[in-house]
Parts: sequence; structure tokens; C-alpha cells
Amino acid sequence: MLADQETTRRSPGDLTAHCIACGHDAVELFLDLGETTLANKFLLPEDITDDEPSFPLRVGFCRACTHVQLMEQVPPSAMFEDYLYVSGASDTLRAHFDELSAVLVERHGLGPDDLVIDIGSNDASLLASFARFGVRTLGVDPAQNLAGFAHERGIDRYVGFFGRDTAPDIVERWGYASLVTATNTFPHIPDLEGFLEGIAVALRPGGAFVVEAHYLLDFLEQRAFDTVYHEHVSYWALRPLVTLCDRLGLEVVRAERLPIHHGQLRVTIMRAGEGVPDGTVAATLAAEHAAALDRFETWQRFGVDVERMRTDIRSTIRDLRAAGKRVAAYGAPAKGNTLLSYLGFGPDEIAYIADRSPLKQGRCTPGTHIPVVAPERLLEDRPDYVLLLAWNFADEVLAQQAAYREGGGKFILPVPEVRIV
Ligand code: ZN
Repeated sequence: MLADQETTRRSPGDLTAHCIACGHDAVELFLDLGETTLANKFLLPEDITDDEPSFPLRVGFCRACTHVQLMEQVPPSAMFEDYLYVSGASDTLRAHFDELSAVLVERHGLGPDDLVIDIGSNDASLLASFARFGVRTLGVDPAQNLAGFAHERGIDRYVGFFGRDTAPDIVERWGYASLVTATNTFPHIPDLEGFLEGIAVALRPGGAFVVEAHYLLDFLEQRAFDTVYHEHVSYWALRPLVTLCDRLGLEVVRAERLPIHHGQLRVTIMRAGEGVPDGTVAATLAAEHAAALDRFETWQRFGVDVERMRTDIRSTIRDLRAAGKRVAAYGAPAKGNTLLSYLGFGPDEIAYIADRSPLKQGRCTPGTHIPVVAPERLLEDRPDYVLLLAWNFADEVLAQQAAYREGGGKFILPVPEVRIV
């Protein structure tokens, strides 16, 4: 099934692209995950066709500003206007949003007159946490199908993409923001200049923009190659973000590394001269240099390691299947689709995927067409092994599935090394 993918893979370094952070034609390929379908386009069984659109999924490193990014981009409108990922589905994430809102309300001294804008507000989970403190809230998100969630929670919503073109309209309707947040949406932004220019428009003097993104140092350490999918245009480290902000009249004033969601970087940005960078900025830049995040050779090695992981995971599961074991999977995050597609696995290898999100149950994974079912199925059906696609929530899932494991069921953790627990 994978033979054609293997023969068409290019050697690392044989192609360059335009950098979305610095503009130089200096991005070199180091990881080619083949052609894949869009990771969040879960399908109803009746909508499965032979001609699902697929796009190259390849990652490169900019030799000019060190930014790690996709080599090719899919238009955002193809991905975000009908969106099935609902952040409120996870207990871990809800707790994180409560912590984040409490920290930021205190740190920035926010009160009833202050407006907090969350970009990529999804089901308004983060803004609901902010609303507990009596601040004004506005969600900005292009996904029409998620608008009802914000409405139910009494949170205002602007349906559209954020950037230099829409920021003036938002300011006119809701006023200037004391705080703008973007949790896990910043890596989605292809037009970084337009986005950050919009931030500079929307903030009141002394206001702050707080970004959280999967951190490149964790991506490297965990070999989290499956977090690569078309929505994630960027894989952020602090260094290229500092360079980009400097160029646009913004300044990074704080950088924090967080354990949540397979490792995040939280960065606070203000207009240049309105804040004072603390020691975390220099310390984070030094740690990134020490880990050689800024060297192309680091990423070439990463590409080789990922190919070896693919071989290991495939042989583990194929050996189990050959021994007559039944294998299912748990969690249908978008990144699970990168992994399944890269492995070349479909319903023959993975019978079904259990997932708590009712929006995904009854659908099939894009490209690989594995059915998604409710988690109760694991206890009814008792497969011998369950591949944990949502490996970043391993502790939470293993606790929830204690009954399955007590009954003899085992989990396969795929990343960063194959482990059976
Ligand atoms: Zn660059």
C-alpha cells in the first residue's frame, strides 16, 4: 500500500520554498509525509469517494530565520469554515483554559471595562473561562458551524478571519482590546504579517497579545511528527517569532514553556516600547540554541528518525494482526490522521477508532476511512490492543479506560517510541 509513497519521496534538501516568517526563498525540505487528505475532514460513510482531495504534506526549515514550516499551503477557507474540532471536549484543556484566564486576568489587571478577544475561539471554551472574571469577551472564528456554541454561552462572536483587513471593523464594533489570545490557532496563520498588523491595530496602548503554540523544542524531543498536518502551517520556536515581531514593530516580552497539550510555548507580545522584556526571553532563546533548533542538521536527523518510527509502528501492528490479535484505536484527533495516513493503515489494520466527540462518532477518518465510534464500544467489544492516537492525553485516557485495561486490554503508544502498556 505504501510502495508508491516510498518511491516518490524526495531526498531531504532538494527543494526550497518561500518563508512565511521572513520572506526569503530559503526553506529547505527535511520531512516528507506524502500526499494526505485534510486531517479534520471526517466523512459520513455515504460521502466516501475515490477522489477525496489530497495535498503534499512536507516540512522545511528556513536557513535565513530558522522558522520550521510547511513547504506547501492549502487555502484556509478549505479547512476552517466547517470545523469538527471542538476544544471543550477535553477535561485537560478545560482545566488549562481556567488556569490561563486566571493568570492573564491577574497579570494584566483586567476588569469589567476590558475587552478580551480570542482568535480561533472555536466553541468559546477559553472565553467562557474569562467570563467568570466579569471581563468583556469577543470570539473571532471563521467556522460558521460552531457559532451556536458561543451564542449558548452568551459570548459575542465575529465570524471571519482575523487580520489587518478585519481588525478595524472589530475595533469599531467592540472597541480596543486589552488582551488578545490565540491558543493553538497561531500555527494556522499563513499570512503572518497581515495577522500581526491586525494585532497592532486591535490592542489598546499597553495591551498584550498572548500566543500559545505547540513548542518546536517539544516537537523535536517527542518526535511528534504526527502533529504535522495541513492546518499547521508553522511549528514555532521563539527565535523566528522574535525576528518577525522586531520587523513589524512588536516585541516579545515574556516566554513560558508549558507541559499542556504535548508541550506548549506561551509568548506575550506587545507593541515595541510598551512593555519590558523579562529574563524568560533571553533564557528561552539560549535554550533553543543549546538544543540546536536553529541548525538544519538537527532537522535532517529528525526526518531520518521519523522514517524509522514508521517502520517500527507498522511492524508492531502487523505482527499483532498476523498473530490474530484485534486492534482498534483510541482518539480521533487530526494528528491521528497524519499518523494513519503515513502508516498506510485503514480498516484492515485498525477496525475502528473510539472517540468521545459526538461530532466525530458515526463518521470515518479522511483518507483512511476507519469508522469512529463511541468509547463504550471498547468495553463491549474488548479488542486486544488499542493504538492511542491521542497520545498527548495518555494519562487522561488511560485513567478513563481503566476498566478496559483491567479486563486485559492493552494500549499501544506510538510516539516517540512504540510502547505497549
Ligand atoms: Zn525565514
